[in-house]
Amino acid sequence: MLIVQKYGGSSVANAERVFNVAKRILATQKEGNDVVVVLSAQGKTTDGLIAKAKEINPKASRREMDMLLVTGEQQSVALMAMAINALGGRAVSLNAVQVGIETTNTYSNARIRKIHSERIENELEQGNIVLVTGFQGVNMLGDMTTLGRGGSDTSAVALAAALNADLCEIYTDVEGVYTADPRVVKDARKLDEISYDEMLELASLGAKVLHCRSVEVAKKYNVKLVVRSSMSDAPGTEVKEECKMERMLVSGVAADKNVSRISVLGVKDEPGKAFEIFDLMAREKVSVDIILQSNGHDGRQDISFTIGQEDLDIALKALEENKERLTAQEIAHDENVAKLSIVGAGMATNPGVAAMFFEAMYDAGVNIEMISTSEIKITLLIPRKDIDEAMIAVHDKFKIASVNMRKD
Ligand code: ADP
Ligand code: ASP
Ligand code: MG
Repeated sequence: MLIVQKYGGSSVANAERVFNVAKRILATQKEGNDVVVVLSAQGKTTDGLIAKAKEINPKASRREMDMLLVTGEQQSVALMAMAINALGGRAVSLNAVQVGIETTNTYSNARIRKIHSERIENELEQGNIVLVTGFQGVNMLGDMTTLGRGGSDTSAVALAAALNADLCEIYTDVEGVYTADPRVVKDARKLDEISYDEMLELASLGAKVLHCRSVEVAKKYNVKLVVRSSMSDAPGTEVKEECKMERMLVSGVAADKNVSRISVLGVKDEPGKAFEIFDLMAREKVSVDIILQSNGHDGRQDISFTIGQEDLDIALKALEENKERLTAQEIAHDENVAKLSIVGAGMATNPGVAAMFFEAMYDAGVNIEMISTSEIKITLLIPRKDIDEAMIAVHDKFKIASVNMRKD
């Protein structure tokens, strides 16, 4: 079999863990498999590099940020190759340029366009374990790019698709995908399996156990995907098309603290203003999430929306520069917010779900600032300080842990 394994930052955080992973990789090869391994930067290396950049230039260009951030993953693959070689194995480390992981031009949030498989296949033929840097690519200008925070998962799944691998294993610091973040909700339950679609929703709403785009790619190319722990032999969670899982009212809860709200206040109440604001955001490559337009007053109205925290500076700068053209009286923002979402295929046909969600917030004394709904999810914007408590409350309200229990 050809197996692609990905190990996250915490799994390779120090020398001891690097050797633990090196042994797992060697054991996988010994079972007769070809092994390609994608690695993230060690521990909190990426956060550390971002902090270093901020010290020097808080408004550093995305190009230079990517140039800096890709170094974290390069350290990991080289160190892992050294560990495997020290244990008597044969490994070779490769970065995105050496492999040929081509991406779009967008720095800090690039998408993979094509992966060249020749170099990796040659190395495998020679009996090498191939270690590939996650999170990074090279764009059409020949510059380094990154795939967005948590993007190593996407590198792994895309490699599995490109190499036609039999299996893609994502090794992390929890035993699989749970009904809520197991670090926050103590009685969250591990799922044996989850459908691509539900996982896609959970990931896009902040359950960072998988990078959202990795699930998209897995679904598109039908990659056999398993999430499991690098510290244990527990079987983990299979992410796949069809699922035996009961159709639950609510199958998971996700929280996202990486959000900011912007309010464009006192905009003239006339056609075209929403277009102008969101066109400006699109030009700056800022993705907008929940949007709320208030009722007009005195011929003016407020338009509020949420964006990823990393885009806040860029968005505010663009709005301030265009304040007059947008006829805005004030541009306000709030960083102390978070999104709390529930996901479940069963809620489309069940009108009581939203009310139960709001009741859980009311019981927990949490104020709701914005609401957004779709067929299979409801998202609330709430104060960031309340997010953990709110997540526990809603998980409890829907009794996800007990109701969802399958006879194993
Ligand atoms: P890695 O460094 O291995 O990529 P991440 O920190 O990116 O690991 O993702 C794993 C973390 O995701 C877990 O430690 C957990 O706190 C968090 N998480 C959030 N939601 C979930 C969920 N529904 N199931 C499992 N883990 C979750
Ligand atoms: N090292 C990168 C990050 O911290 C990519 C990853 O871990 O997947 O976001
Ligand atoms: Mg991750």
